[in-house]
Amino acid sequence: MRFSKLPDLRASQAPLAPCIADTTTSLSNGEFHSKVLVAAGLFSELGVNAGDVVAIMLPNRVEFVVAMFAAWRLGAAITPINPNLTPQEAIHQMTDSGARLLINTSGDRVLEHVPSLPVDALHGGVQYGAHFSARPVDDKAALALLIYTSGTTGLPKGVMLDHANIEAMAEMSRDAMQITATDHCLLVLPLFHVNGIVASILTPLSAGSRVTIRTRFDIETFFADVEQLRPTYFSAVPTIYALLNALPAEVKPDTSSLRYGICGAAPASAELLTSFEARYGFPLVEGYGLSEGTCASTINPLNGVRKAGTVGLPFPGQRVVLADDRGRHLPPGATGEVLVQGPNVMRGYLGKPEETARTIVDGWLRTGDLGRFDADGYLSIVGRLKEMIIRGGENIYPKEIEDVLTGFPGVLEAAVIGVPHETLGEIVIAYVAYRAGQGGAVEQLNEHCAARLTRYKRPAAIHVIPSLPKNAVGKIDKLKLRALWNEQHG
Ligand code: ATP
Repeated sequence: MRFSKLPDLRASQAPLAPCIADTTTSLSNGEFHSKVLVAAGLFSELGVNAGDVVAIMLPNRVEFVVAMFAAWRLGAAITPINPNLTPQEAIHQMTDSGARLLINTSGDRVLEHVPSLPVDALHGGVQYGAHFSARPVDDKAALALLIYTSGTTGLPKGVMLDHANIEAMAEMSRDAMQITATDHCLLVLPLFHVNGIVASILTPLSAGSRVTIRTRFDIETFFADVEQLRPTYFSAVPTIYALLNALPAEVKPDTSSLRYGICGAAPASAELLTSFEARYGFPLVEGYGLSEGTCASTINPLNGVRKAGTVGLPFPGQRVVLADDRGRHLPPGATGEVLVQGPNVMRGYLGKPEETARTIVDGWLRTGDLGRFDADGYLSIVGRLKEMIIRGGENIYPKEIEDVLTGFPGVLEAAVIGVPHETLGEIVIAYVAYRAGQGGAVEQLNEHCAARLTRYKRPAAIHVIPSLPKNAVGKIDKLKLRALWNEQHG
């Protein structure tokens, strides 16, 4: 399956079958195909050629997907830009990626800057006129996606994924999640991340299933959509599942169409996964991955044993090992850095050969995550090397403490950071948010930690705040928490 040919394939197989919809547009396979041809013709007239980069700065909507396939048809790559970025941040991404065409909505402030950039802008989305279609380019090694990492741990870098990467990933997800033409995916994650594009667009479309796009996850309308549209699956992050799980007990939606929800992108507690399934009657299947590995490397089996608290087994076709700090592979039972090998591993960071060489070593992608395999080969992510706290020479991984804190009754979420300390080097600081209407004295949280954590791992301070700051994907933003701590104590 070539993605540059996907719209043609769908149109030739079932032209009238529903393909993709959002709140205002609904396209059959045939209509989707013609929109892609028209957009490709338009891009071509505007000078887009094979090897170019098209920047798409649109909210989640059908035009995003049309523009993406149109660019691929011409052999161009796309770089999705978060529409909420400041003009400066967006310009950084456009300049760094060398984009030659920007597609965004009219009225966007970033347009004021376009005249000073070497890009053309096509605002108001893709306008469909009578444009001829360009000859399709079909090259597996062509760059497909230039995804900028979210920057939770550093400056955004352009992750280069080619067509071979994304095709392999879509195929692995299709097989693992048993997605077929009868499926219907509800997309609630942002399309400017690889998870949204691969798990909720490429995987279902390449299986012949349909997709309904929502601008964002909306707690008010999510279950109404599920009842009305009857999707068979969706992909979301732990924050979303925690919010749904915290809805009042009288919320009892009809979820009978859903086969499962995919959960990934950040740690989810075993308690959340189990209580969610018990309450809503469909399972959450947890997986793990990163943009550099086209979003997924391990997943809990659909039909086998799903172990809550683990991120499952490596996808067939990928190898996952653990290594010590000198890159030596470790035997089962040990804790080490997760290394990944497979057809999904990126080509590198755009224009950053040193960073690429530090990240892909001897053919293995260094994830910067710490993991442990159990006796059955299930991986658990126990922390992030980049987030490790060193207190008086002892290594501490925030995740272990966060898991203890989220186990306290009424706690919705928790995040732990290390802050500088004169004698100990660093100390552990925790931020906790309770579910609406719940709360408790910090003293009780301290006692809860004391009963479960060795002394050096216990937080030096626990701050209860109304909600934890999140980035655009819904992950807890530790940079913001650090800034908050500095403001109050630094
Ligand atoms: P940046 O690279 O800019 O710091 P980021 O690390 O958030 O941003 P992503 O590629 O979006 O970049 O996220 C990948 C990371 O998310 C993984 O390396 C891992 O730390 C975390 N992650 C993903 N899935 C899981 C999971 N199921 N459990 C725990 N952590 C996860």
